[in-house]
This record gives sequence, structure tokens and C-alpha cells, in this order.
Amino acid sequence: MPSAFSHAIVAIAAGKLIHPNRPFLKLGLLAIFCAVIPDADVLAFKFNIPYSSMFGHRGFTHSLFFSFLLGTIVTLIFYRRFPLFSKQWWSYCLFFSTVTFSHALLDAMTNGGHGCAFFAPFSDERYFFPFRPINVSPLGIRNFFTQWGWRAFKSELIWIWIPSIVLLVIAQLRKK
Ligand SMILES: [Zn+2]
Repeated sequence: MPSAFSHAIVAIAAGKLIHPNRPFLKLGLLAIFCAVIPDADVLAFKFNIPYSSMFGHRGFTHSLFFSFLLGTIVTLIFYRRFPLFSKQWWSYCLFFSTVTFSHALLDAMTNGGHGCAFFAPFSDERYFFPFRPINVSPLGIRNFFTQWGWRAFKSELIWIWIPSIVLLVIAQLRKK
């Protein structure tokens, strides 16, 4: 995975870009939650679920299906004021789903680990993109402050943080 912080900055940039005039605290925190939560699946290692299993790391929680499910649940719970299936309801549901899926898209651009099960639970095939410039980052916080962590951070800086900051500036300029 790229680090949780990098998934979070993408969520913030997307939120600011798509909803520039909305109060940001609730929306931003929920977007960060959606972008980071797919890696809760590292718990699978603790339960001896193999990496390659559909419910292993980068499995089900890194799929389109899970992303849409989480986007729907977050919208149902936190935006109850929008009538079900109204235009606004859909726009939030798709926003949170997309932010969740941004996690898997970034993971599929890393140079290590297994690919992501984009189509779980219908297929357990793992996918990477042909373009994988992001150095895979260590899983535990302990390894984060090592040479490996630093190398990963540098590639995330170039491929994730700089584009996200550019998007944030654009979002700021669009703000009325
Ligand atoms: Zn991940």
C-alpha cells in the first residue's frame, strides 16, 4: 500500500475538488475514512487468512463492489437528509464509492505485494496496472521510519502528494 497518509490526501483533494463549497469537516473525515479503511484487511494476516485469498490483504476490500457498498452505507448513515436515490443522494454515494476505490487504484500502481481483487466477490483474480511507479510502502508503523519507508515516501510525494496539492489549489481557485 501507499501509506495511509497518502490515501488520505487523495480523499481530501477529491472532496475539495468535487464539493468545493461544502463545509468540509464531516465530508473530509468521511472521505478519509473511506480511502483508508480498505487496509483494515491487514487483520487477515493475524487470522492466518492467506494473502491470495479473496478475503486476504488487497482482496474484497479493494474491489469495486466493496467500494460501492461502503459509499452507499456512508451516505445512508451520514446523509439521511437526502431523499433516497435523489440526485444529491447519488452524487454523495458515488463520491464516497469513488474515494474508496481510489485506494485500490493507487495500490494497483505500486511495485510490490499482490495485485488488487477489483472484481471480488465475483472473481478473485488480482490486478495491477502496467504503470507502477509507486514504491510499495511497509505495512507496520515500525518499518515506516526505515530506508524502505523513506524510499516509498519519496515516490508517494512525486506521484500522489504533488498531484493532490495541485488539485487542492485548483479546488481553492474554483471556490466561490
Ligand atoms: Zn490497500
